[in-house]
Amino acid sequence: MPDFFDISRHLAPEERTIRDTVHAFVDARVLPIIGEHFERGTFPTELIGEIAELGLLGCNLQGYGCAGLSDIGYGLVMQELERGDSGVRSFASVQGSLVMYPIHAFGSEEQKERYLPKMAKGEIIGCFGLTEPDFGSNPAGMRTVAIDDGDSYVLNGTKRWITNGNIAGVAVVWAKVGGVDGEVHGFLVPTDTKGFEARTIHKKMSLRASVTSELILEDVRVKKDAILPNVRGMKGPLSCLTSARFGIAWGVLGAMQACFDCALDYAKHRVQFAGKPIASHQLVQQKFAEMLTAITNSQLQALEAARLKAEKKLRPQHVSMIKRHNVHAALEIARTCRDILGGNGITLEYPIMRHLCNLETVFTYEGTHDVHTLILGQDVTGIAAFE
Ligand code: FAD
Repeated sequence: MPDFFDISRHLAPEERTIRDTVHAFVDARVLPIIGEHFERGTFPTELIGEIAELGLLGCNLQGYGCAGLSDIGYGLVMQELERGDSGVRSFASVQGSLVMYPIHAFGSEEQKERYLPKMAKGEIIGCFGLTEPDFGSNPAGMRTVAIDDGDSYVLNGTKRWITNGNIAGVAVVWAKVGGVDGEVHGFLVPTDTKGFEARTIHKKMSLRASVTSELILEDVRVKKDAILPNVRGMKGPLSCLTSARFGIAWGVLGAMQACFDCALDYAKHRVQFAGKPIASHQLVQQKFAEMLTAITNSQLQALEAARLKAEKKLRPQHVSMIKRHNVHAALEIARTCRDILGGNGITLEYPIMRHLCNLETVFTYEGTHDVHTLILGQDVTGIAAFE
């Protein structure tokens, strides 16, 4: 990974250790198999146990069998996993930030004891059901409802684009209590509950090594204690997304690294015109100079956001900036690196096209690039353009 400003010097010894451990794991266990999984459109479930054993699931949470890493440590884990593949990082992001985090932050003591230790061990996988077929960028419009019925709630609705849906044992389902005008609450729904169905979404050209599903809830009856008791309204799902987006801004540093390193190695060896490697041509060097600058900008934003988070000064708008900036930079870098490899760049023999395809999803999920633009626009002007 280019580290032009020696950012590593800011890392605590345990942060370097976790970075290097996950780096070695990705080299040994993820990179040899991920291209084939991507090609087949399968998620490497065989890695779940090892990822859990390394303590990477919910790794920034305290207690309940979680590793309790610093925010920088969590970011570095995401970075190294995404150097392998955005699908592998997405699996860990959803498990940690979108399912374990709301249970940890908003759950009852009984819910925490019941789910968190098993989720940290990878024995229960979770998914996060917010998006619906007609409500993506505007999730507050959701139509999934939970109707109070004596000692239970009865849930009805459809969620779409749900990562881990078909491998999950529990789904965090966000629904409006009482009807479509009701207040949003989170529910922990065991996926074997009658009326719950997960359907795999096929024909994806992006995030192929990741399970993406549609969730159908038809008269799904859960006990009253399935509700997350300590949050109400859109603050619940949005705070989960803030946590996950922070991880994404770090994660894409890994995708940038994989593309940059591959293209640099290729450019030094690929010879065109007068026996010279393409790395000796000025236009190719300009591409590396621009990419190095973009990677450095992204690293500095991620690091500064982690410091603000540790000081409890990180606002959702800061996270919008780093998600928007870093994912866009990663996508541009992947595209430039693909170009540097010429025709070879479009094959799965090299990791770049896989990362490029994956980053198209990362650009869209967890708030599209343009929605984050509008959030920042609102922060600057005080005017909400998207409402
Ligand atoms: P839309 O909201 O329809 O947006 C389409 C376009 O319109 C975008 O360019 C957008 O920026 C633009 N647009 C929308 N509103 C405005 C506006 N007001 N002003 C200007 N432009 C606007 N969701 C979950 O809940 N859980 C998951 O685990 C999950 N995993 C996912 C995995 C994958 C592979 C994918 C592709 C998506 C996943 N999502 C998940 C859903 C994701 O968060 C949504 O796709 C995203 O929020 C965008 O919603 P949409 O696809 O409905 O697009």
